[in-house]
Amino acid sequence: MEDLKPKTSIKYLEKMGITTLTEKDNGLPLSLGGLEKGISPLQMTGAYATIANDGKYIEPTFYTKIERKNGTTIIIAKQKSRQVFSKETAYILKEMLTEPVQGQNGTATYCKIAGVDVAAKTGTTDENYDRWLCGFTPYYTAVTWYGFDISESINFNQRNPAGLLWVNVMSRIHSGLNGATFEKPTSVTGVTICAETGKRATTGCQHKYVEYFLPFTKPTETCDKHKGQILENNNVESKPKNNVTEVIKGITEDIDAKEPTTIKDKNTNTTSSENNEQKQNTSNKINTNTNTNNTVNTTTNTQNTNSNKTNNTNSSSNKTNNTNNISSNITGTDNTTE
Ligand SMILES: [Zn+2]
Repeated sequence: MEDLKPKTSIKYLEKMGITTLTEKDNGLPLSLGGLEKGISPLQMTGAYATIANDGKYIEPTFYTKIERKNGTTIIIAKQKSRQVFSKETAYILKEMLTEPVQGQNGTATYCKIAGVDVAAKTGTTDENYDRWLCGFTPYYTAVTWYGFDISESINFNQRNPAGLLWVNVMSRIHSGLNGATFEKPTSVTGVTICAETGKRATTGCQHKYVEYFLPFTKPTETCDKHKGQILENNNVESKPKNNVTEVIKGITEDIDAKEPTTIKDKNTNTTSSENNEQKQNTSNKINTNTNTNNTVNTTTNTQNTNSNKTNNTNSSSNKTNNTNNISSNITGTDNTTE
């Protein structure tokens, strides 16, 4: 954030539907979530769903459509949507966010769901006043917050109670669904890195890990601290230059390299066309959201472009309903920190 500048980060947050940031939040504590007013679980869910939806923000809704008994449609939810960053950048975020779940020292290892990739981030404030779990799978995004209206410490069985809520709801929503993974775009490459130097690892490096990069951000230097051979498939010159240029053109010029413009009139929920705002394509939307009853409480349906997954989601609507009810019972009606 120091490199990006907090102002740039704030613009991205606003594009992801966050409306509660203040002037005081324009500083580096923002990177750790040190905010004046904070963010509601609903807005946090919309923001995390942007990552899950390959960089596309979709305004949360509490209903998808209302029909008469005879099937005539009365109201269809019009959710605004906009592309905030590329699917390549979204994938890199997804991959990073699997670390708390899969990593050896992960803070959310108990949030694993069998057969389904899980990305999750835990959050805690000073004195344990607030506990968060923000996470998603290829199917759903959910955010849970646990705390008091007036700051009071939470002590609960050593484990993040928000995380326990999260995994109890999410594992039930996913029961019976097909296995699903976060799909890596072809232009994103994994490079084995030396943990000590941050350069490309050699056979001599002891602590290695795979990190994912956009083509033009790959580290070019090889570790010079540990003597060894360059690892197979870890060579920087493996991609032809013109291909890289094309990818840069496709990704960065359109979205990632351009600073997002500040969302205007955010309180009235209208946004000018310069922000690349798209009106909800209703016919599209109905297909993905029908029967899922998404966004009850803070669980939103992660939009699937894969039709199989969508079908699976639809076919599990009963389960979803049940789980949403469970979620309501546990968390009560007050879901916000405001
Ligand atoms: Zn090394």
